[in-house]
Amino acid sequence: MAAFSGGGFGGGGFHGSGGGGHYGHYGYYGGDDEYGNHVVGAMVYMTIGGIVFSVMLFSFVAGLIYEGVIPGLNFINLAIFVASVVMHIVALIQSGRTADIRNIEYVDLNKFAGKIWNGNGYRPRNAKGDKRTWASVNDKRYSISFFDREFGAENAKKVLETKLRTPKILWVKPSLWLKLSIGCFIVNFFFYEAVIPVFENMIMTDIAFAFIDEFVFYLMSVLSLLFAVAAVVIFIAKDNVLHECALRIVEDNVAFEERYKTESAISSMLSEKWYHNSCPNCGAPASKVLKNCLSCGSSLEVLSFETGAPGAVHRLSLADEKGKEAKKEKTK
Ligand SMILES: [Zn+2]
Repeated sequence: MAAFSGGGFGGGGFHGSGGGGHYGHYGYYGGDDEYGNHVVGAMVYMTIGGIVFSVMLFSFVAGLIYEGVIPGLNFINLAIFVASVVMHIVALIQSGRTADIRNIEYVDLNKFAGKIWNGNGYRPRNAKGDKRTWASVNDKRYSISFFDREFGAENAKKVLETKLRTPKILWVKPSLWLKLSIGCFIVNFFFYEAVIPVFENMIMTDIAFAFIDEFVFYLMSVLSLLFAVAAVVIFIAKDNVLHECALRIVEDNVAFEERYKTESAISSMLSEKWYHNSCPNCGAPASKVLKNCLSCGSSLEVLSFETGAPGAVHRLSLADEKGKEAKKEKTK
């Protein structure tokens, strides 16, 4: 019976967080000028009210714990539960940075506009890559963009590949770990009362029973803390995996750009006009500067490489070469 009243107090705690939801609700009206002042006033009163309520609830609960009325809870395991909640909050806030990974599998990658990162969002000087997708060499900071027109979809695919070939536990929703801890907290209200009678009926030394007594009493809080530690450790491991993935992506993209530059240089050369060294019509030799034959006046331009006359040598026109020289000078 007492366990249920304890559960009721736990419920009280949740009502408190429900209040937080209400602030958010009022926040929507905040955009409306007419109600703006009312909303600010309401928010101030609700915040003060919320603080006063929390303090009252806390001292009330503390009093109950002190009197030993709440089953399964003393100040030590309450502190362990609070510590695990704090760790969960840290892990949940951090997990926002990589939340977009979950969508990669379900959205059209060509329209996907997500991004994952580690760090304050600014590209460090020593980082490799461009300003959207980069990876730091010295630490674990990275940024992988999925909205890059050139590489976005490709980046997303590579992140998904990384996700599929690493342990699944890394990619479990971080809220699952919080739910497990909350489960421990709820079970804790009746766990001790339910389990300890099993041992009370056993024949054992006082020391052994004292140990089991402590073990059973603290088991749920310790489990809750372990789930919180798991959430944090997994998040750090995930950041390491994604940093390595970012390094790979950056290398791939740089290599691709190098290849693209070479290819476009070749294709721009191919797109330039080429001229025969001897006239395709009358066979008279032509010097480099000529575009038309001096003897018969026909064009020396190469119209097709496939049907080029035997012995025809392709050359650039002098004007084009001069243009290139000028470009080279400029880039130097
Ligand atoms: Zn000719």
